[in-house]
Amino acid sequence: MSEFSFPQFSTMKVAVLAGGVGGAKLVLGLDRVLSPGNLTTIVNTGDDFTHFGLKICPDIDSVCYSLAGLANKSYGWGLEGETWYVADALESLGAPTWFQLGDRDLATHLERTRLLGEGKKLSQVIADFCNRWDILSRVLPMSDDEAPTLIETKAGTVLPFQDYLVREKAQPEVNHILLHGGFEPSPLPEALMAIQEADLVVIAPSNPWVSIDPILALRGVREVLKEKHVVAVSPIIQGKTIKGPAAKMFAELGIQPSSLAVLRHYSDLLDLFVYDASEKPMFSSDILEGVSTIQLQTIMTDEADKIQLAGAILQHFIDLIGAQ
Ligand code: GDP
Repeated sequence: MSEFSFPQFSTMKVAVLAGGVGGAKLVLGLDRVLSPGNLTTIVNTGDDFTHFGLKICPDIDSVCYSLAGLANKSYGWGLEGETWYVADALESLGAPTWFQLGDRDLATHLERTRLLGEGKKLSQVIADFCNRWDILSRVLPMSDDEAPTLIETKAGTVLPFQDYLVREKAQPEVNHILLHGGFEPSPLPEALMAIQEADLVVIAPSNPWVSIDPILALRGVREVLKEKHVVAVSPIIQGKTIKGPAAKMFAELGIQPSSLAVLRHYSDLLDLFVYDASEKPMFSSDILEGVSTIQLQTIMTDEADKIQLAGAILQHFIDLIGAQ
C-alpha cells in the first residue's frame, strides 16, 4: 500500500461497479488515491463457473489479485510467478485444458470451494481472503446467489459465458445475452448499502454487456443509482477494446462500437462520462442533457496511469459538484 497522499479525497467514499480486466485497473488506482477503507468494489459474478468441481470467480479474483499486488502483469489475469505443473499433468491425462489454471491460482479456487462447501457465503469467503491478502478496500460480489451470464449465439446455441469467451475464444456471433441465466439473484445487501453511502459511484471501463449489465440488472440497483452521482469510464477507445469482445458484441448487437455508444448505454444513470483523450471530441448535439463529458488519458498500462486516471476523475467530480 502506497502512502496516502491525496488529502483532497480524504473523506470521500466511492463505490465502483467492475468486471475483471478493465475494472481491476481502475479499482487499483481508486484504492491508492482514497483513504483506506473508503472504496467498495461491487464485482460482476456473471462470469463465475464450476470447473473440475471448483468454484471459479474470474472477475473477483482479478480485482483481488490486483489490489493485493499479486496480479500477473503480462497476462492481465492470474497470478505473478505462476507455475503450471497441475495444468501440464492434466493435459497428459487428456483432461480439458481450455481454461488455464495455474498452480497458485488453484489454491484460491480449492479453498473457496471448501469454504463454500462448509456453508459460507461467497461474500464471506471473499472478505476472508481480502483480510489474508491485507486488502483494505472492500470487495463485494454483486450477489451471493447464482447469476450466470449465458450467451445465445446467432447459430442458435446457448453457451455459458466462459465457454463462449475462453473455450470458443469469443468467436460465435452474439444474438442475445441472457443475464442471470434464468435465476432471480438478490443483490448483496451490503452492495446496495455501499452505493447508498457513496459520495460517488464509478462504473469502471469494463464490458458494458457482460460485466456491468449483470450488476445493473439486479433488483433495486438502478433505483439506488438514480439517487447518486454516477461517472462511467469508456472501455471503448477509437471504436476498439483494449482486450476482450465488448466492441465485437456492440457490432453484433447492431450498434456501432464507440465511446458514444457506451455513453448512450448508461445514459439514464450518468452525471459524468469519461472517454479517451485520443478521440475526436463528441459533438455537443450527441451529448445528453444533464451529463457532463470529459476526455482523459484512460489507457492504463502501469500503476502510475491507474492512479492518475483515478485522481483526475475524482478531482473532476469535485469540481463539477462545486460548480453546481
Ligand atoms: P473481464 O470481465 O475480465 O472481461 O473484464 P472487464 O469487463 O472489466 O474489462 C474488459 C474491458 O476493459 C474491455 O472492454 C477493455 O477495452 C477494457 N479495458 C482494459 N484495459 C483498459 C484500459 O487501460 N483503459 C480503458 N479505458 N479500458 C480498458
